[in-house]
Amino acid sequence: MVSSAKVVVIGGGIAGCSTLYHLTQEGITDAVLIERDELTSGTTWHSAAQVTNFGMNQTMVGLKSHSIALYKELSEDADYPINYHHADGGIRLANTQEQMEGYRHFASMAKGMGVEFEVIDAEECARRHPLLVTDGLLGGLWDPLDGDIDPAQLCQALARRARKAGAKVLRHRPVTGLTQRPDHSWIVHTEQGDIDAEIVVNAGGYRCNEIGAMMGVSLPVASMEHQYFLTEPIKAIEDAGHRMPLIRCPISDYYSRQEKNGLLIGFYEQGCKTWGMDGIDPNFSNSLSPDDPERVIETFEGAMARMPAIGEVGIHTIVNGPITYTIDGAPLVGPIPGKRNAFCITGLRAGLGEGGGHGWLLAQMIAHGEAVYDTWCIDPRRFTGHASVELTALKAIEDYQNEFRFHFPHEHRPAGRPMKTTPLTAVLEAEGGHFGTVNGWERLEYVKPAPDFEEDHSFRFTNAFDTIGDEVRAVQSGAGITEVSGFNRFEITGSGAHDFLDRMTCGRLQRNEGRVGLSYLLNHQGMIKAEATVANLSGGRIWYGSAAASEFHDMDWLTQHIEADEDVQIRSLTNDMTILVIAGPNSRDVLSGAARGDWSNEAFKWLALREAHVGHVPVVVMRVSFSGELAYEIHVPNSGLHAAYKALREAGEAHGLRLFGSRAVESMRLEMGFMHWKAELLTEFSPYETALAPFVKMEKDFTGKEALAKHEPKVKLVTLEVDCDHAPAHGGASVLHEGRVVGTVSSGDWGHRTGKNIAMAFVELGLESEGQELFVEVLGAAVKASVINPRVYEGSR
Ligand SMILES: Cc1cc2nc3c(=O)[nH]c(=O)nc-3n(C[C@H](O)[C@H](O)[C@H](O)COP(=O)(O)OP(=O)(O)OC[C@H]3O[C@@H](n4cnc5c(N)ncnc54)[C@H](O)[C@@H]3O)c2cc1C
Repeated sequence: MVSSAKVVVIGGGIAGCSTLYHLTQEGITDAVLIERDELTSGTTWHSAAQVTNFGMNQTMVGLKSHSIALYKELSEDADYPINYHHADGGIRLANTQEQMEGYRHFASMAKGMGVEFEVIDAEECARRHPLLVTDGLLGGLWDPLDGDIDPAQLCQALARRARKAGAKVLRHRPVTGLTQRPDHSWIVHTEQGDIDAEIVVNAGGYRCNEIGAMMGVSLPVASMEHQYFLTEPIKAIEDAGHRMPLIRCPISDYYSRQEKNGLLIGFYEQGCKTWGMDGIDPNFSNSLSPDDPERVIETFEGAMARMPAIGEVGIHTIVNGPITYTIDGAPLVGPIPGKRNAFCITGLRAGLGEGGGHGWLLAQMIAHGEAVYDTWCIDPRRFTGHASVELTALKAIEDYQNEFRFHFPHEHRPAGRPMKTTPLTAVLEAEGGHFGTVNGWERLEYVKPAPDFEEDHSFRFTNAFDTIGDEVRAVQSGAGITEVSGFNRFEITGSGAHDFLDRMTCGRLQRNEGRVGLSYLLNHQGMIKAEATVANLSGGRIWYGSAAASEFHDMDWLTQHIEADEDVQIRSLTNDMTILVIAGPNSRDVLSGAARGDWSNEAFKWLALREAHVGHVPVVVMRVSFSGELAYEIHVPNSGLHAAYKALREAGEAHGLRLFGSRAVESMRLEMGFMHWKAELLTEFSPYETALAPFVKMEKDFTGKEALAKHEPKVKLVTLEVDCDHAPAHGGASVLHEGRVVGTVSSGDWGHRTGKNIAMAFVELGLESEGQELFVEVLGAAVKASVINPRVYEGSR
């Protein structure tokens, strides 16, 4: 009988088994996995179990590389070998130049993680996969390590190793309830008795929300029905003399891999179906949904057109099972928002390939508080209050219908939109606004040059280039106004508030009323956790402002560090207020026309804050600038947002005030060397590596200080001028020196005031000096670049 464990993992699919195994690897052997049935009786047993290295960012590529290395090692374990078709190779097809350029970028990004992809033409695709015909095909991305694994054997192998290391696996034991004690530990109720646990992990697959409900949370996870067919043997495969590479087709929405001497063909049909939205039969275990071949006929025809040999053989098996999705397609791996000692690893839609890596990163988070990579792209806190299961289902359908069609830069797909709006969204839309989304918030990107304007989706500079440039120039020479929707804002009060924040931030904390300061929060490893604008209002109120997506993340981090005897209260005002920014040399005149008072430089200096009225609306004005121009952030309660906007627009008429959007802001912030959270500000790098040494004060005590004192910087953030004008260097692109990868781009865009193609990148130490010549891969081609002063534009703030 097991009555207690440090960690209880609920669910024995790939997610749970991988987590359990990796916990033991990270030193936590007092761990128990509880499974309601047999291991792999959820989705895992019937998975097509393809294992690719392809990912949309370096964290995903890195964790998939871990899976591949681990699975290879397991398959070669003499005591318990498992079936793994390692390195059959795989091709992601393309029929447009834009897709090919995307693949070139992804290949460059993967190179930085030590992974070599190859972009090949149509003839080479057909040479490597003899079943393919090349009609309408341009080429594809070759992943040499692509393969597939036996899912049941994989989970048994992981569980076996975990058991050997001291962990336990309890089968046929449904978890029926979870009770959290005041000390944040848990009682895990099962049909066969309770188990005390310090930490619980929800690895419940399509049942994750049954487990979520036991702890009072709803996870943004929804399931889709997903089918594949198994064909009879195909002669050309028998004759080929080698295994068939895997195919993933964004043109006709299917994948295929070799199964015995036939093919397994899976479908992402347009007429797809959610699954389990109205509850899941408790007896659905080791089960499938009824075959539904009609639904995928059109998609199947697409596969037959590309591989005519399929049409010559029969189908002997159909598999139709539930597969989980989240709002953005990436899983939820990490701390459950608003809960202590509770983690999840769920929403995996490619869990067999990725599960090894996700369990690895999750075990590190549980054991050490942080993983080797920045895990924001899989962090359950990246969605906030809007993230219902209903919304997830809408996004899941959209994602499923576009399974292999990657997002282009600035592509924001329509399902579920608008999710979060301000009272101004419709007003700005009526003015011609084009919107993207930031954490669900509709955010103005630019004003369309014509009502029917459609932006091209491309990795190059797009047809919105001149429009964005015009907005930048309008701000630079006159005045612009924009809305920053969803900016995160906490009000922190209590007699201990400043001391608490002082401890949480690594630099000098601005404590003076009427003043604003920029602060950085480090994790216990001394790496960058968060960035906050700390603003001191009257009555001892402190406003903590941070990126729109950071609300749940920063709230958890702050609240978890309040001491029991500390007088500190935190409440979120994120959904109650919006920022209007006015920027440009005429912005002071605009403000003076809309708000009474002396707004001269002497009366209202850089980093000053004042409570005032714009028109009749009470606002807080801060003299800060992300553009480098003279600028004011006006924080407005949403109830008065429209009125304040009208007052500013009216005051701005005499000063040429013009609407601008976030794409203009992006261009201007790069010219100023300002950083973005989760682009440059990552848990992988310290403030020293991120050129933030002036924001560190080692004379005081702060969270992460001890680790930072021992930290040896390995890289340095630099600004690069890239010698081309057809495309930006996108985040993830490799930086080269003497033919070797020496760094990675974090952000890149055109500087419209300076006429420079600018990128920020982390590069190896020794290569950070101004004038250093390097190469940056732009659309996969090496382009000359040189390190320049990060203040590319002087500004007049
Ligand atoms: C047809 C199909 C093809 C696929 N092909 C691929 C592919 O080629 N490559 C790939 O990478 N992925 C593929 N996937 C996806 C992949 O199979 C899943 O991402 C993965 O299996 C999910 O694993 P999991 O551990 O999260 O969930 P599951 O396998 O569902 O495991 C969850 C476990 O939790 C248990 N559980 C639930 N509630 C409780 C409770 N209250 N108490 C105790 N235990 C509980 C369940 O019994 C279950 O065993 C495919 C999926 C489908 C449907």
